[in-house]
Amino acid sequence: MSNRTLNLDDRIYRYLLDHGLREDETLSRLREVTAQLEQGVMQISPEQGQFMTLLVELIGAERIIEVGTFTGYSALCMAKGMPSHGELICCDVSDEWTGIGRPFWREAGVEDRIRLVIGPALDTLDALVAEGQSGGFDMAFIDADKTNYLAYYERCLTLLRPGGLLAIDNTLWGGAVADADLQDPDTESLRELNNRLHRDERVTMSLLPIGDGLTLARKRS
Ligand code: CA
Repeated sequence: MSNRTLNLDDRIYRYLLDHGLREDETLSRLREVTAQLEQGVMQISPEQGQFMTLLVELIGAERIIEVGTFTGYSALCMAKGMPSHGELICCDVSDEWTGIGRPFWREAGVEDRIRLVIGPALDTLDALVAEGQSGGFDMAFIDADKTNYLAYYERCLTLLRPGGLLAIDNTLWGGAVADADLQDPDTESLRELNNRLHRDERVTMSLLPIGDGLTLARKRS
C-alpha cells in the first residue's frame, strides 16, 4: 500500500498496460509508426491518450483545440471521444508530421471531426479570438513548443467556455522542473507556467503524474 503516487518500475507499468490499456489496432499502428521517427519520443503515452478520450467523454466535449499535433495520436484519442458532429481544431507547423496521422484519422472514421490548421499556433489562436470564438470551446490540449506555453495558456483560457477543461502536457518535463541546476529556456518556461497555474484563481487545477506530467485546469465561471 502507498499513500503517495507509486514510482512505476517496468513490472508495475507492464501490469498497468496489461490491465488498463484498451488501445485499438489503428492507435497501436499509429504509435508504432511514430515511434520509428527520430522525434518519436514526443508522442504521448498510450495510457495518457486513453485517459484523454475519457476526459472528452466525461465533459461531453464537442469543440476542442489542440496546440501541437505532431503525428496525430492525441488528436485521434480526443476525436474518438467526441460526437460525430464535434470539431477538433489542430494547430501545428508541420505538414510532414501531421500528414502521418491523417490516414489513421480517416481509418478510424473521425477525419471529418478534425480541422488541421498549419501555421504558428499563436496566429491560429489569435485568429479564433478575433473571429469572436472566445468562450466557444469545451476543451484545449497544449503540447507544443515549451517557450510559448504561457502564451498558449492565456489564449486557450480565453477560448474556453466557463467550466471548460485545459490539459497541458509535459509539466514535469522528465523531472527537470525540480532540478534547480537546469535553467534552459524550455525548463524555465515550464517552471514559470507551473508557478503561474498553481496560484491562478481563474482555474481549478491538478498536476497529474501521468506520462511526463499532465496538468488539468478547469476554467471557473
Ligand atoms: Ca508532449
